[in-house]
Amino acid sequence: MSRSAHPAGPRHADVVQEHQPAAAPDDLNALAAGIWPSSARRLDGVLHLGGVSVPDLVARHGTPAFFMDEHDLRQRARAYATAFDAGDVYYAGKAFLCTTVARWIAEEGLGLDVCTDGELAVAVAAGFPAERLAMHGNNKSRAELERAVAAGVGRVIVDSFDEIARLREVAARAGVRQRVLVRVTVGVEAHTHEFIATAHEDQKFGFSLSGGQAEQAVAAVLEAESLDLVGLHSHIGSQIFDTAGFDVSAHRVVELAATIRDRYGVEIAEINLGGGLGVAYLPGDDPETPKEIAQRLSAIVERECRSAGLAVPRLSMEPGRAIVGPSAITVYEVGTVKDVVLDGNLTRCYVSVDGGMSDNIRTALYDADYTCALANRASDAPAKLARVVGRHCESGDIVVRDTWLPSDVAPGDLLAVAATGAYCRSMASNYNHVRRPPVVGVRDGVSAALVRRETEADLLSLDTGWRA
Ligand SMILES: *Cc1c(COP(=O)(O)O)cnc(C)c1O
Repeated sequence: MSRSAHPAGPRHADVVQEHQPAAAPDDLNALAAGIWPSSARRLDGVLHLGGVSVPDLVARHGTPAFFMDEHDLRQRARAYATAFDAGDVYYAGKAFLCTTVARWIAEEGLGLDVCTDGELAVAVAAGFPAERLAMHGNNKSRAELERAVAAGVGRVIVDSFDEIARLREVAARAGVRQRVLVRVTVGVEAHTHEFIATAHEDQKFGFSLSGGQAEQAVAAVLEAESLDLVGLHSHIGSQIFDTAGFDVSAHRVVELAATIRDRYGVEIAEINLGGGLGVAYLPGDDPETPKEIAQRLSAIVERECRSAGLAVPRLSMEPGRAIVGPSAITVYEVGTVKDVVLDGNLTRCYVSVDGGMSDNIRTALYDADYTCALANRASDAPAKLARVVGRHCESGDIVVRDTWLPSDVAPGDLLAVAATGAYCRSMASNYNHVRRPPVVGVRDGVSAALVRRETEADLLSLDTGWRA
């Protein structure tokens, strides 16, 4: 485990355990529950998704490719929409966004978070209802704010004093009263199985509670006639299983709401606790259900508000990964299998696939773990500890650090990596001039590219050369 790569930063690396590959599963062909999309199953040994066999999907769409189970994604969106009020759930589009997914999200009644003009453009192109859009970002340009205001986004989450001044002017000029939430950093950093509560938070986002910055930001918004303070926002981390971090953030945000009521006579109508809800990547990962999360958090907000004598505000959330992560898989073709002698009789088996860090940077960036399985056949061969690597000129180009594969894995096999719907295609690059893979929707026996594969012509079209 590389220390600097830990998502919590080097400060917390000490409490993260060294990477220990789990013992081989009893059955390498089994699809561990809760990790694969709901329609995934093995029929006659072959992996199927959305009623189509993976080899058939690959024959049609090639490798590497993301295959996204529409029913699975909609079902996750619906679970959040029912657990909270649908309009209070904002899908965080940065996890993965294309016009089709934006439409699915709109149809399920959720809102949508965007954080750049590019994401906003996709939402607008999808016809996403603007009043259900929320605009994030710690450095929104004037042009982005103008575009967001002109589009009529329902909320802008303000993140700096510079931005408040900028937005105030942009909204005034457009003759609108823009609804805003003030992003607060509450001194909670939550990651997977740990959270840390401190007084300060050393990060670029939001206004810190300590030192009264958050309160000053609220005052600046209240002073601006063109801005309408709707609520407070907090986002504490990612891939969180230990939701106690949300308890602390809810507590601190409600405290601020009470201060605002006392000092400015304004009641906060909405508290948004952000995203970060974890999903299962490995057997044993056991995230809370949306219903459990909603019940706990509402209870906390209600309790805190009651003791502060506040009316209970709306509770909103911004799940990204929890909606799209487990809905998609990546399918690669194995190109080479190499046993590398480490020392003495220790060897490591490197299985090279036809993608890598350009379609999944999370392993290199965060030491992320994934589950993978042979997709084109079942195998009774004994398990072998393997490392799945990509095709890039980078030794850190690892897709799955340690995994058990059948020892007869061979070139030409198809390998499926589970739960790659979030932060894989959306963070994809053209490193080594690799063409980014398509995202293919699968449902009830049919498949179609939602985002097509890049072509060489796409790559070369950017290369305009010196044009006087
Ligand atoms: C990234 C992000 C989210 C979504 O996080 P997930 O871990 O995908 O749920 C929500 N809100 C904000 C402000 C974010 O930055």
